[in-house]
Amino acid sequence: MIPFGIAKRLKKGYRLYCFVTLKCNLNCSYCTHRFYNKKMPHCPEMSLEEWKELIDTFPVKIREVVITGGEPTNWYHFAELVEYLSYKYFVTVFTNLNFYWSLDGANKSKILFVSTYHQKDNKKKFLENYNLYKKNGIRIKIDELINQEIEGSRTKDWCSLESLKKDKRLLIYPDGTLFTDAYSGAKYCHERYNK
Ligand code: SF4
Repeated sequence: MIPFGIAKRLKKGYRLYCFVTLKCNLNCSYCTHRFYNKKMPHCPEMSLEEWKELIDTFPVKIREVVITGGEPTNWYHFAELVEYLSYKYFVTVFTNLNFYWSLDGANKSKILFVSTYHQKDNKKKFLENYNLYKKNGIRIKIDELINQEIEGSRTKDWCSLESLKKDKRLLIYPDGTLFTDAYSGAKYCHERYNK
């Protein structure tokens, strides 16, 4: 449930960034969640049903749902949530590509994976999962660093990292709290849960 004071100020066309978990299998020094005090914050996680309800009852029209983290594909309910959302919204997944899900129950035409090759990634696993997802009908956009090594990854998608940067965004943290920037989210988690 979105507090009324916030709901009143929302405009149409938001991208909802859903941080389903802050946990990640990698530990990158440049991670956004470290910006507040260099430590990864903790945050209790909502259930699958709570996420569905929060998104479905959001008080204004949602342009797109972004599933992110932490590493969202390592969250227990990842596939169920993405499959459910893909029949109602455009769904972008920010992932390090370390885990594979078939997503066979999803409307794959409404899903885009956006990934970056991280400093601590296992390159073999990254490329293996990239190929598996592509083979299984999932569109993936990869950053330029590794583009040269992956055939066909320069294709244009309906959504790009550049356009995401410019858009109105609202961040929902794993416990359901709303923020407009990751610094405030990390500060909140540290102050509330990391004592
Ligand atoms: S993979 Fe992403 S979420 Fe995980 S530690 Fe690195 S930057 Fe942070």
